[in-house]
Amino acid sequence: MCQTRNTRRTHGPQDFDVLVVGSGIAGCEAALAAAESGARVALASTGETFSGSSFFPGTWGLGLVGPADERDVDDFVSTILEVGRGMALPKLVKGLVRGIAPAVARLEGRGVGLRGAERPDERDFIPCFDRRCRSWHGLERASYRAATSAALERAGVTALPRHELLDLLEKDGRVCGGELANLRSGETLPVTAGAVVLATGGFGGLFSRTLTMPDVAGTAAAVALRHGARLVNVEFIQIMPGLVEPVRNVVFNERTFRYAHVEGLDVPDAAELLDERGGHGPFTASLPDRAVDFAFSAAGARGAAVAYDLPDELPEFMQTYFSWFEGEFGRSPASGVRIAPYAHASNGGILVDECGWTGVEGLYACGEATGGMHGADRIGGLSSANGLVFGHAAGEAAAPRPCPRWRQATARPFSACGAPWTSAACSGARTRACARWVACSISWTRRTRGSAPRAWQTPPSRHGRS
Ligand SMILES: Cc1cc2nc3c(=O)[nH]c(=O)nc-3n(C[C@H](O)[C@H](O)[C@H](O)COP(=O)(O)OP(=O)(O)OC[C@H]3O[C@@H](n4cnc5c(N)ncnc54)[C@H](O)[C@@H]3O)c2cc1C
Repeated sequence: MCQTRNTRRTHGPQDFDVLVVGSGIAGCEAALAAAESGARVALASTGETFSGSSFFPGTWGLGLVGPADERDVDDFVSTILEVGRGMALPKLVKGLVRGIAPAVARLEGRGVGLRGAERPDERDFIPCFDRRCRSWHGLERASYRAATSAALERAGVTALPRHELLDLLEKDGRVCGGELANLRSGETLPVTAGAVVLATGGFGGLFSRTLTMPDVAGTAAAVALRHGARLVNVEFIQIMPGLVEPVRNVVFNERTFRYAHVEGLDVPDAAELLDERGGHGPFTASLPDRAVDFAFSAAGARGAAVAYDLPDELPEFMQTYFSWFEGEFGRSPASGVRIAPYAHASNGGILVDECGWTGVEGLYACGEATGGMHGADRIGGLSSANGLVFGHAAGEAAAPRPCPRWRQATARPFSACGAPWTSAACSGARTRACARWVACSISWTRRTRGSAPRAWQTPPSRHGRS
């Protein structure tokens, strides 16, 4: 059934160059990048197209964080490594941080409206676990969806909503498509492709109390594992407070801890602990403010009462949340809520290199399905960044031939660009062209010479585990 990439293929209706599985932001970015590189692309997902955590309805949108400017890059990288408690892979962290500004530029170029911060230096804009303000953008679902939907259509991507990946097709050690279940008809559909990109999200949907979607259950990670990919840091899943009253399955804004009284937190330094806890959404075992989580967890499924003593003027970050909440649910959280711990995003997943390659021929992965770029704790706003940066990289790398832009890029003078992803002398369009050149040339080299991706110290064994 599978033919190699370089032989002539007669395309059937289920025969593509790239099969992208998962249509959250990572999958959409991968599909778009592959299609814009000239590939015939199918975008399949268990949920509808535009699903997963990326389109979770219980929040206004996603914070997207990046380095404040070029001078901030090194500090941001070292902070991520520190917050990741030594469990993050430096090459992936650098690739992530370097890729954020180009990713934001791509969104803007596509017409995605990004919310900016009016007072970006406000303390509340310091990302979770971070120590200073960075560049912050608000990625709103509706705008992303409208602009990306039009772009996917223009690029000729075939959408396969409600199609779940059951297994990968493999021939001679190379992944060459996927077996999909059509969840509407119950039929199975083999889809052949030169490469598969898994963008299937995290594991949060496995938990009964979860702030994510049921279609995000890590099933494709199990499939990838079976075909020789490796998993990394999967034990690090974010657990964070969510509302159980007045509505369930809705994100609690952790910044409001600073103005809150939490039932069960009866310690003399409660105010200091709540102030510190306001600095990060997910639980961490590594800070004393874990006492806050222990207190509200002790209340069990009915949740702990949170009462507020709010300032007259709410800080901007909280105002965004309160306005959204009132519009959505017709009442203000200011009158009190009950909270309980919820499973949230995964910090680990399938191990990849900077191009999203899993180490298995023909198999790529990106977004929350992957791990290694965060470590134990994750700085807030970097999961959306992960999907945007590595989704794009994986899509370009999975496309079957050097994209036309590769030629344009190589025609430019690249002497100032020392190494991939570290082109400090590059800026703007040149950085983007540089990144494209790197992604395309790595992918081309790998295909023609079978070289191993740079992130590996040693190539993974086909049945290795980590
Ligand atoms: C409430 C909430 C708030 C958040 N806030 C932020 C934030 O402010 N900043 C931030 O950076 N991150 C945030 N996150 C995390 C972030 O949203 C996610 O990590 C990110 O959107 C994941 O994108 P993704 O494309 O990798 O996966 P997802 O968006 O989860 O998409 C997964 C896709 O895979 C499909 N799928 C799964 N399994 C299969 C299968 N076997 N076969 C076919 N398809 C499959 C699903 O249907 C879905 O389309 C938040 C998450 C939630 C839930």
